[in-house]
Amino acid sequence: MSGHGQVKLTEINYSKDRPKAENPVKIEDLSLRDGHQSLFATRGRTEDMIPVAELMDEVGFWAVETWGGATFDTMHRFLNEDPWERIRTLKKYMKKTPFSMLLRGQNLVGYRNYADDVAEAFVERAAENGMDIFRTFDALNDYRNFETVVPVIKRTGKHFQGCICYSLTEPRLGGEVYNLRYYLDKAKALEEMGADTVCVKDMAGLMAPYDAYTLIKALKETVSVPVHLHSHFTSGMAQMTHLKAIEAGVDILDTCLAPYAFRTSHPAIEPLVMTLLGTNRDTGFDIELLARIDDLLEEQVMPKYRHLLDQHRMSVIDINVLLHQTPGGMLSNLVNQLKEMDALDKIDEVFKKLPKVRKDLGQVPLVTPTSQIVGTQTVNNVLFDTEENEYKMITDQVKGLCYGLYGKTPSPINPEVRKKALKGYPRGEEPITERPGAVLEPELEKAKAEIGDLAKDMDDLLIYALYPVTGKRFLKWKYGEEEPPPECRAKTLDQCRMEEEMAKKVLSGEMPGAAAEAALPEKSPGARRFSVSVDGERYTVDVEEVGGGPRAAAPAPEAKPAAESPVSGHAVVAPMPGMIVSHEKQAGDSVAEGEPVVVLEAMKMQNALPSPVSGTVKEIRFNPGDNVKKGAVLAVIE
Ligand code: MN
Repeated sequence: MSGHGQVKLTEINYSKDRPKAENPVKIEDLSLRDGHQSLFATRGRTEDMIPVAELMDEVGFWAVETWGGATFDTMHRFLNEDPWERIRTLKKYMKKTPFSMLLRGQNLVGYRNYADDVAEAFVERAAENGMDIFRTFDALNDYRNFETVVPVIKRTGKHFQGCICYSLTEPRLGGEVYNLRYYLDKAKALEEMGADTVCVKDMAGLMAPYDAYTLIKALKETVSVPVHLHSHFTSGMAQMTHLKAIEAGVDILDTCLAPYAFRTSHPAIEPLVMTLLGTNRDTGFDIELLARIDDLLEEQVMPKYRHLLDQHRMSVIDINVLLHQTPGGMLSNLVNQLKEMDALDKIDEVFKKLPKVRKDLGQVPLVTPTSQIVGTQTVNNVLFDTEENEYKMITDQVKGLCYGLYGKTPSPINPEVRKKALKGYPRGEEPITERPGAVLEPELEKAKAEIGDLAKDMDDLLIYALYPVTGKRFLKWKYGEEEPPPECRAKTLDQCRMEEEMAKKVLSGEMPGAAAEAALPEKSPGARRFSVSVDGERYTVDVEEVGGGPRAAAPAPEAKPAAESPVSGHAVVAPMPGMIVSHEKQAGDSVAEGEPVVVLEAMKMQNALPSPVSGTVKEIRFNPGDNVKKGAVLAVIE
């Protein structure tokens, strides 16, 4: 077999018709999923993928990742886009290149394990809508969570890519949990399950180049199916890691087009094409075609997303990731959450506490959803714990993890934390040992009864079953029962230019100050409100639709807590900004001290907020789906 341990130079030839290499490195492009998920909080819109889709189809990628991960969530929640429609639309423009999606095992594209009936229906519909390769992972590397989805992937004739989440407890490969043996055993288990390819998923960019060499070489000797490496750039090692993986004989690598590459995303494809040019691992890609695609993206697409990029740092690498091992998405979530709570100064404390919380929770790999589970719990501990009372506010997801709802953790959970988490847990105080899916009651029929005619087909029903609150809201937008809010609308290039000008004016002092605001006309209903960032300060800017003249509102700091009507009685207060999920109590109900009243979702984790006193619920404020600020009064108890 070629490609083991060396890359041979054959003939340097820049032409796109150059002779094919004997063992080309195959490439999966991630720009349209992990790329914008890593850099722009998954806000990429389908309309911004279309301009390059046909050209990308010509490159010769082994696959393009177009769906899964956080796309399903952000599309229906923030973009007012039907997630299923994206697959069908892109398929019209990309007819040759197989589509790949990231499937979170029994978590599907959500943040908890769904029941078997939902999991089966979801994979069937994804296959039917045009998905070809199911990159399947489980946050705990517990492959019992694959037992429901894999037979459906196989039955529909699709490609099952089995993933191993790459995690470390030590600075380098090794230690008691995540050592070479661990990864080889996992790879064998995946091959036995019928994996068509085995992928090592290095979501935080932790894999050091020489560890990649050791690992990939050993994997190639252990399994007979192709080996695929997914490594994020975050720490800055990924390009070197790629090269050592190539020397070790890796079959497939993940990259992004240059505008979607680097930072917390992935290495760019363009330098790799040149690196391998004329070798026996030459990708065979046309570098000029790639440059054309990049130009198109820079001109037509990137201006709409630049404001979402983290522009506060010069450095494109995050050295800290090597120390605290947090993947990019988790990092930005932590920062945003702390920012919203005016507690950004606590970030160092959060990083300091993170390893302990992770150890308490069984040394889980840090990947969605466990990264959010560990991250949010750490934030809660830092903000709400007292010396004598640790784990004061335990999220529902941590309770689920302790119960065994996510599967088996790599090392045992701290028994004291588990006991505290499961005190009064509705499913029981004793954790389960079987496959999580086995204890989950079917969910589809119940979902169907709840959503009724608003779900016109199985695709709609799945949107609701996966995301009951935001899914229902999306279906109302989709079928015209509710007007989608203006924030959901796409930005145009004109608006981007206008915003840039606004920002410049604010900076130069041309923008009207607060005193001038009263003199300005009322904001028209057609105006769109933007938040503009200038020198780290955020300003609110109203922009009229075409036809009305642009005007700026007074620069004002954003997101102040809403004015509250006075409270007589004891308030249940939002300890953090978030979205109301449900009410455990209604007005008039009696409630005991410590009993949950409202469930608030923050950072995708649900927190049951307890009543501060025993008494009667006098008032419930806000409805499920409402976003609330920190400090908002959610209920009043008398
Ligand atoms: Mn990734």
